Amino acid sequence: MSAPAIFSANTLVVEGRPHMSNLFYQTKAPRPTLARAEGIYMWDTSGKRYIDGSSGAMVSNIGHSNPAVLAAMRAQMDKSTFGYRLHFQTDASEALADKVASLTPKGLDRVFFVSGGSEAVESTLKLARQYALTQGQAQRTKVISRYPSYHGSTLGALAITGYAPMTAPFDPMMHAMPKIPAPRAYLDGLDPTDTATGLHYANMLEAKILEEGPATILAFIVEPIGGASTGALVPPAGYMQRIRQICDQYGVLLIHDEVMTGGGRTGRFFGADHWDVTPDIIALSKGFGAGYVPLGAMIARNDIVEAVMNGDGFIHGYTYAGNPLACAAGLAVLNEIEQHSLTENAAQMGDALKTRLEAIMQRYPVIGDVRGKGLLLAFELMADRATKEPLPAAFNAHSRLVDIAYDNGLIIYSRRTRGGIAGDHFLVCPPMIVTEPQLDE
Ligand code: PLP
Repeated sequence: MSAPAIFSANTLVVEGRPHMSNLFYQTKAPRPTLARAEGIYMWDTSGKRYIDGSSGAMVSNIGHSNPAVLAAMRAQMDKSTFGYRLHFQTDASEALADKVASLTPKGLDRVFFVSGGSEAVESTLKLARQYALTQGQAQRTKVISRYPSYHGSTLGALAITGYAPMTAPFDPMMHAMPKIPAPRAYLDGLDPTDTATGLHYANMLEAKILEEGPATILAFIVEPIGGASTGALVPPAGYMQRIRQICDQYGVLLIHDEVMTGGGRTGRFFGADHWDVTPDIIALSKGFGAGYVPLGAMIARNDIVEAVMNGDGFIHGYTYAGNPLACAAGLAVLNEIEQHSLTENAAQMGDALKTRLEAIMQRYPVIGDVRGKGLLLAFELMADRATKEPLPAAFNAHSRLVDIAYDNGLIIYSRRTRGGIAGDHFLVCPPMIVTEPQLDE
């Protein structure tokens, strides 16, 4: 007997019965139940195997069931799994903070742990605001971001997110924050390798700062390489450097949202390392806990943290921040990345995968663009490659192709962002342990 219609629209229906715990998720198509996962592969309870071609949501960067990470977690579990941050320091969080600081740009050594990307981004906003107050700049309240962009689901992170399908119901509840267009040179017919293109888009930030009033601007937040919303959008030449100059000129803090790009996936530990640009504050998550535990971090310029701590202290915090089990797992993840040169592998395998995607693009005109760096790669479907006309929304290409891949044992990640903005893009981002034969597969 088929499931009652009342459950079919918005709930998971598995083996004819609704999964009550998943009632509130957005997935409309029924999805199987996960039985186990190892390396780049996942198996459902029917025994069907899938290639995790998107590392979940670009999270499982070192693959599933890594023995060293599991061993580190077990060892920590034997010691303690929770110590409230206002009561105890833990060796695990101290060790992880030291490790993170060894990977960050000079002068950004202060690490604040959280449990995910949205929390990391919220933390950056609050630290920036508190820092402005210590500088006697109470009028700095606006955070400029890009459209499209994605910075998280909580209301602060959502207010700076440029993605109408997720923000629209909540817009009346949030302070409207200024946005500038993301540098989608491929849609605008501009050459991304030309510095003039980078300047063209970066100067939109200066124009926006002047329009809003420079003294009111607290920060600019940017994903160094676009993630879910723009589909692995690599900034044009000169863009990141010019953004840094503009922020310096107007006393605006530069926040890099490295939630998806941090941790080696793009072929450098931080996405922004490709351009040698140092931000003032960084948000990190996803590949940091790599799917083993909920983990994220805010990393900030030392003097910013000191100014805030010498003032009122940081008026912010989460109960689970610095959880020792999460920190032990995070440290083991970073050690695995280092010991097995996974960042370098991401660079090499990324080139090899991009070449394969470009070859597929030659065969199928419906693929309008292939882009990305390292293993943060995407392709975009279009009705017309020359005019960039999107496929009709009703065609639902994004969910149909994901479903076809799923049926064939491949998981990829998609967002439809056209709605006046982009198209149907698909992120192809296998774990950083992927090998060339696996790419062929
Ligand atoms: N920032 C970026 C760039 C992201 O890609 C995401 C998640 O996709 C977030 C923030 C929010 O992270 P989380 O879903 O862990 O809260």
